[in-house]
Amino acid sequence: MFVVMATQATEAEVNGVKGRILAEGLTPFEHVGTSHTVIAVVGEIGARRPELMSLLGALSGVEKITPISRPYKLVSREFHPEDSVIRVLDAVIGDGSLTVMAGPCSVESREQLFETVDHVAVNGATIIRGGAFKPRSSPYCVQGLGGEGLRYLAEARDRTGLPVITEVMEPAQVDIVAEYADILQIGTRNMQNFSLLLAVGRAGRPVMLKRGYGATIEEWLMAAEYILSAGNPNVIMCERGIRTFETYSRNTLDLTAVPVVQHLTHLPVIVDPSHATGKQWLVKPLAIAGVASGADGIMVEVHPRPEEALSDGEQALTFDMFDEMMAAVVPIHEVVRPFHGDPGAEPVPAAAAR
Ligand code: PEP
Ligand code: MN
Repeated sequence: MFVVMATQATEAEVNGVKGRILAEGLTPFEHVGTSHTVIAVVGEIGARRPELMSLLGALSGVEKITPISRPYKLVSREFHPEDSVIRVLDAVIGDGSLTVMAGPCSVESREQLFETVDHVAVNGATIIRGGAFKPRSSPYCVQGLGGEGLRYLAEARDRTGLPVITEVMEPAQVDIVAEYADILQIGTRNMQNFSLLLAVGRAGRPVMLKRGYGATIEEWLMAAEYILSAGNPNVIMCERGIRTFETYSRNTLDLTAVPVVQHLTHLPVIVDPSHATGKQWLVKPLAIAGVASGADGIMVEVHPRPEEALSDGEQALTFDMFDEMMAAVVPIHEVVRPFHGDPGAEPVPAAAAR
């Protein structure tokens, strides 16, 4: 449930409500909105709901209590009507600008990474990607350079001035990855690794949460809720394709998820046409479609020589292909931007809640 404070509620009244929630063994999360402060009551409420609603509703400064039947609270639009805008170094995600995350699937060597970032950084990328710890379906495939890859990524950031994103695969890696990377990526295979979600929730870095390839939108949102409930509000959602009966493409890009996630949550959404399609020539059309659907950005894999790539070469863009894709998506973004509204301008009314 959410406690909606009166517009003129004082800080002491807000603190009074939070103290009462804590006294009940629950956790208050406060969001100071443009018109109201809303306090989400999080925890195991169970049968205490009616009693709690009248208890909290009677406190000074409270305007109303909104029961919320959705299982996710902190990621919901009802709690946080304005779009979340995430700032990392000079990159801004979710403010209506186009985020372009680009780089190799795996960091293979310093030379390969630098060659790639030198190209993408001056041709439209706003964030550098590259895997140091790789979740491979086969134990016999290249597993990534680990710590060495992280150091190269940090050097790539210094070289380009762009933030870097890389995957973290287990809770024990969170500290070291957070030391080198600016954004922590949770891969599709780990979307429901709850101890990892809680660990990145406690890390002081934004997190990009890829959708599990077999996960419903609600399961994906619940995974994000884990991260926010652990204290990290800076979560970026990434649609990277889901498993369907179709086998031609590696996955099926679920573009419906983009407006749905934007409707239900305040979090930015990125589309990854590389892992969604698995084919180089399909990346550009699906990047265009992702941007047209209103996504806050795209993530693409780029390699200086895709035929030599140690992982995901079939879906890696050459430098020329990256440039061609950028030439297509930038004007599309300019055209569609007004149709997707200004961030924060269109709060979804609480009445829209189920
Ligand atoms: C990746 O982006 O490097 C990756 C492994 O993606 P996914 O988790 O979506 O398969
Ligand atoms: Mn990959």
